[in-house]
Amino acid sequence: MQTEIFVAGGGVGGLALAVKLASSGVHVTVAEQLKDESPLYKGELLQPKTVAILDQMDLLPEVLQYGHKIETLAFQEVDVNPGRPPEEIGSTELTYNRIASTYNYSVMIPHEKIKEILRNKASEYGEHFHFIPGARFLGFENGQAKIKQAKETYAITADVYIGAEGRSSPTRQAMDVSIKRKDYNHHFLTVTIPRPESFLEGKIVTTRESFLGMFPLPDNEIRTVLLIKAGQYKAIKEKGLEHVYEAYGDLEPRLKEHVRAIKDWKQIQLMVPYTYHVDHYVRGNMALLGDAAHTVHPMAGEGMNLAIQDADVLGELLSWCKHNSKTYHSHLPYYEQVRRPRVSFLLKLSHLSALVYSYPYPWWRQLRMQAVQRMYDDDQLHVKQMLNTSGLGIWNFSLVDRAIQGSMLPVRKKNITDHQQQRYIFDETDDYPWKHTNWKG
Ligand SMILES: Cc1cc2nc3c(=O)[nH]c(=O)nc-3n(C[C@H](O)[C@H](O)[C@H](O)COP(=O)(O)OP(=O)(O)OC[C@H]3O[C@@H](n4cnc5c(N)ncnc54)[C@H](O)[C@@H]3O)c2cc1C
Repeated sequence: MQTEIFVAGGGVGGLALAVKLASSGVHVTVAEQLKDESPLYKGELLQPKTVAILDQMDLLPEVLQYGHKIETLAFQEVDVNPGRPPEEIGSTELTYNRIASTYNYSVMIPHEKIKEILRNKASEYGEHFHFIPGARFLGFENGQAKIKQAKETYAITADVYIGAEGRSSPTRQAMDVSIKRKDYNHHFLTVTIPRPESFLEGKIVTTRESFLGMFPLPDNEIRTVLLIKAGQYKAIKEKGLEHVYEAYGDLEPRLKEHVRAIKDWKQIQLMVPYTYHVDHYVRGNMALLGDAAHTVHPMAGEGMNLAIQDADVLGELLSWCKHNSKTYHSHLPYYEQVRRPRVSFLLKLSHLSALVYSYPYPWWRQLRMQAVQRMYDDDQLHVKQMLNTSGLGIWNFSLVDRAIQGSMLPVRKKNITDHQQQRYIFDETDDYPWKHTNWKG
């Protein structure tokens, strides 16, 4: 079998790449090991940059139809009194509305739904899109991709091979890329439960030792993420579901009854966070995208977004190569040139957000409360945090910012104008620099 671009893995990253390529007339073949939907929970929060990319693919109306818009994230610090309502000792909120873009919101959407939307879109370009479900990519042999489907093994020849297989990537192995994994002192339990109709915005409730993140989904459901100490899963499970019901009720009374919809531990998924970032994305005519190249701590809700944003840049580059008669492999490094610094930045941001919730010391909690409050009080901090999280741009935190956050300097009185922000928002030249004649990349 012959194709222009072979993609191993039909997750969000591989499928977003397929939409970009097939819609611009590049022949793409995607081999996905699963035959059906995956039962596993994977990210559901689409950050603003991803929303913008999906809009460029003409998918925004459908995404909004099946998703739930989130504009605000509330942060509440509480002391828990078992059986009684939690005692609030601090609260603040951050809002995507501070971003100077029409994409100033995020969207919660079930992971399998976004995959379905992408797959259906790629299928509209049937002449250029070939999807092989139940096909496992085994590695390379004689420069060709080796695929196993049912009991048959066959080869696919392509101009470019993309590894989009997620965390365990045969393409990464073939590229001889090294990864250094970083682990954390906490794990998460995650489960979707029903929610009250009025629970519409994101919320994070924190105690000294834990937190419960709540992100509304459509159809009056809500994704919940409970932080636990690493290695505690078994002990918690032994205590039984009643213990989980109580923990939820103590942290968020609005979910006290709804949490009882969990009837079986099978509904609850254990999430073990870790991160890595490969030392190179490209080798010859092979490239990695999404989790095959980098895994991020889930705290800032970036993993799925980084995969789709990789796909956007890589898809644009490969389409441009085809339409401008440029060789693919000599231009692939430009993909890494654009994506690596952005991914590194968000990996660091997510890591810092994780650390904020990693230690139970009272002084650490005090610092955290101050820092979160100051992010709201100081508009520049607020804008930077939301813009950086959104993926729409990068505006680095300065030493002055950190001193303000740490209460060593007073809060600035002036608000940031949209015009000031624009300098830090990526435009076409930043996203696809190779297209511009004055680019020296
Ligand atoms: C438990 C969990 C919770 C997460 N929570 C969040 C979150 O809240 N927010 C967020 O943004 N991100 C989250 N993520 C991360 C997010 O799911 C990933 O970053 C994102 O799915 C990466 O997309 P991808 O396409 O690179 O990889 P994947 O989504 O992993 O897709 C890879 C695809 O390749 C297929 N595959 C694997 N090996 C082969 C092979 N050899 N041959 C053929 N096919 C193969 C797999 O079946 C899969 O369909 C979470 C991840 C996990 C595991």
